Amino acid sequence: MIRKWAMRAVIAYLLFGIAIFLYLFYWADTSIPEAVKGTSADPATFLNGREMELSEEYSRIRNLMFFLATPYEWLFYYLILIFGLSATFEKSAKHVSKFFIVRNAIYLFWLSFASLVIMFPLSFLSYTISKSYNISTQVFSAWMKDKFIDFWVQYATMFVVITVLYALMRKYKRRWWLAAWVISIPFSIFMMFIQPVVIDPLYNDFYPLKDKQLEAKILAIAQEANIPAEHVYEVDMSTKTNSLNAYVTGVGSNSRIVLWDTTLERLSDEEILFIMAHEMGHYVEKHIYKGIAGYLLLSFVGLWLTAKLMEKWITKRGKDWKVERITNISSLPAFLLITSILLFVASPITNWVSRYQETRADTYAINITHDKNAGIKTFQNLTKAGLSQVNPPLLVKIFRYEHPTMLERINRIQKYKLDETSSEAK
Ligand SMILES: [Zn+2]
Repeated sequence: MIRKWAMRAVIAYLLFGIAIFLYLFYWADTSIPEAVKGTSADPATFLNGREMELSEEYSRIRNLMFFLATPYEWLFYYLILIFGLSATFEKSAKHVSKFFIVRNAIYLFWLSFASLVIMFPLSFLSYTISKSYNISTQVFSAWMKDKFIDFWVQYATMFVVITVLYALMRKYKRRWWLAAWVISIPFSIFMMFIQPVVIDPLYNDFYPLKDKQLEAKILAIAQEANIPAEHVYEVDMSTKTNSLNAYVTGVGSNSRIVLWDTTLERLSDEEILFIMAHEMGHYVEKHIYKGIAGYLLLSFVGLWLTAKLMEKWITKRGKDWKVERITNISSLPAFLLITSILLFVASPITNWVSRYQETRADTYAINITHDKNAGIKTFQNLTKAGLSQVNPPLLVKIFRYEHPTMLERINRIQKYKLDETSSEAK
């Protein structure tokens, strides 16, 4: 019986893999629409032939990796559950200690370690590909060090989460999901608060912008937007990647606007100012706080659904897997599997909201800088540096794109009508 279910899951995964491969490499149309040909949004006008070929090839492989990795994780959770491995991990933890907390720590270690081993080939492959296309510049030892930090940061976070979660399941038989949601609010805000100052520095060095002339220019537009000036940081990324980025992170007094040093090296001052104005757009429109509100709403529905599905599933099949009750820590893979599927299902919505906010930030940037040309150049350079696909397949856009496609972003700026009367002489 169990073997039959395992076979079905593996076959479903393989069929999905073949279908998505055919879609990404043969069926999807990524050509440039006739109306855009020859304009600044047409990669033929700003990439050379070799770059165009590489960007198409690299993007296809990356997209394939994305669609294969998530269900691969689901398959892992499913198989570890139905073959009774999860129950075995719990049993071994019971032998070591009678304390709930220690048992959780041991169980979680085995599960995390198994997951690391199973997921390693995929992440190593993705690193190798990125390196061969000259996107990643990270040496193997540094990459491994990041993996090591990842493992322990995730382990520590998960340990806190599952200890609280399973204690709540025992205490509130039916409404544990609601209790978990209430506790998740201060916990998530706390995590966002410490992210820029505790977690991020574990991976990279952060320092205030070194180029003081550029800093003065950024401060000038920051002042216009009423943003406290100390929120511009530079991060050392050139030892890891050739791609460019800037972002806003954190909440309250820890919120920061961060620029990768690669961005500083490869873009002109005007282009950097455009990116900074975009980031300030996020700040001014309070996208972080709106993001938290959206996340709370989503997690409310998500936890409720997870509780319903998980209880049903464990009651029906748990005995076969030696997971007697939902309160057994060995039911964790079921929890992780269900939440991961729900997150994936919700991603078209969250991505859509994110793309809307990115468009708002782009508009803000044009209006602040009055420099359409810098905006167009910025997006062209981002495309070149990251070998991104200007016009990705529809499914890729729906499930992967938190930003509008480069075609949409450049096109929008080209057509955007600046309000000339309000613009100051520059
Ligand atoms: Zn943005």
